[in-house]
Amino acid sequence: MYDNDISNVVEADRAHVWHHLTQHKPYETSDPRIMVEGKGIRIWDQAGREYLDGVSGGVWTVNVGYGRESIADAVRDQLVKLNYFAGSAGSIPGALFAKRLIEKMPGLSRVYYNNSGSEANEKAFKMVRQIAHKRYGGKKHKILFRERDYHGTTIACLSAGGQPERNAQYGPFTPGFVEVPHCLQYRAHEQGLENAANYGELAANAIEEVILREGPDTIGALCLEPVTAGGGVIAPPEGYWPRVQEICRKYDILLHIDEVVCGLGRTGTWFGYQNYGIEPDMVTMAKGVASGYAAIACLVTTEKVFDMFKDDSTDPLNYFRDISTFGGCTAGPAAALENIRIIEDEGLLDNTLAMGARLMMRLEELKEKHKVVGDVRGKGLFCGAELVADRLTKEPVAEKLAQQVVAECSAQGVLIGVTNRSLPGRNNTLCLSPALIATEDNIDEIAAAMDVALTRVFG
Ligand code: PMP
Repeated sequence: MYDNDISNVVEADRAHVWHHLTQHKPYETSDPRIMVEGKGIRIWDQAGREYLDGVSGGVWTVNVGYGRESIADAVRDQLVKLNYFAGSAGSIPGALFAKRLIEKMPGLSRVYYNNSGSEANEKAFKMVRQIAHKRYGGKKHKILFRERDYHGTTIACLSAGGQPERNAQYGPFTPGFVEVPHCLQYRAHEQGLENAANYGELAANAIEEVILREGPDTIGALCLEPVTAGGGVIAPPEGYWPRVQEICRKYDILLHIDEVVCGLGRTGTWFGYQNYGIEPDMVTMAKGVASGYAAIACLVTTEKVFDMFKDDSTDPLNYFRDISTFGGCTAGPAAALENIRIIEDEGLLDNTLAMGARLMMRLEELKEKHKVVGDVRGKGLFCGAELVADRLTKEPVAEKLAQQVVAECSAQGVLIGVTNRSLPGRNNTLCLSPALIATEDNIDEIAAAMDVALTRVFG
């Protein structure tokens, strides 16, 4: 089908591909990595090296693992029947997947299709803005986001981004986005709250302070990750979410939960927010929706939000005037239907809870053994280990050291990631998000590789 001579592929890549998140200078003297094949939790590169993929495709996406023929079959069958139609018509897999999805999301009822997490979030922002115009004379238009959270790569999403490292050099940003403080208890000292017994509640109260400062009648929505991903794998502390929900209700602010990473099982529940008993008005999701077998993202809303755009007036501005060209691809919902079936039929939520508990136990052991591991945290198969130069001051290790740990794991055939994004040059949190099919042996293999890597880098 295509040129399979791998040296030609490597040269074509070196000459013409601009990789994501990559400084290309080193490729002048070394080969770029090409991933060639995957099966289950394992993946192979151009040299035939095998890896246990501890990050599900690099960015916590391939929840059901690689090489799923049933998804490929479902997509193929759909593509030969009808690959695409966009605009105001629906599709068979689009309708059926929406129904399946909504069964997992009590309280929500409408699915708007897009093709990336950033796009889904942009659409949510647009809905908030349009509601502000329709109902509040444009006033209730501001969108709150949280320090350390990330909502995507476009300029509006970066404007709602709480990670200075990702935003640096991309301003100026879009007005109308306002930051609220983070809720990472390990770094409560940055907020003067290190001794607070009720940290979760206080971190949520800080949101209310911002609302009162800005004026509640100017705030349309609060956009939060249920468990912050790239910002350092942060599961909010006890007491946080009930207060957040209360605050949103009190000031009539829409709660938009960004499930782009947590969605479809990553934390051991269908959605991250379901760990906390909250009732969002809008939910966005992408990566795990079809586990990377097709590009698909969804913005899901309550019927109440949907109804704000539905009436029989003749005002031509009254509906949601938005389209996503590739939101009309049927491969996405066809893959997503099979993906959700697999998660359900193979009991992958239960497996995620069990393997997540094992991974946390292994990380705790690493923390006992290596003093550079300052904090370990996570939810389900979504875990992080923060590396610090000093446990007392919690000064992050230099990023290049954390990167060395990642490289040492890779040398042993285990892929892990590093993130944080709050401080340029200081990404210091190792992150782990293996496929939801991970076994006990897989978890132990990841931890063993980390143990060796930490010893090699830090002694
Ligand atoms: N939200 C979160 C929480 C994410 O982690 C990401 C991507 N890493 C996005 C949104 C953006 O998704 P995409 O890259 O598909 O645009």
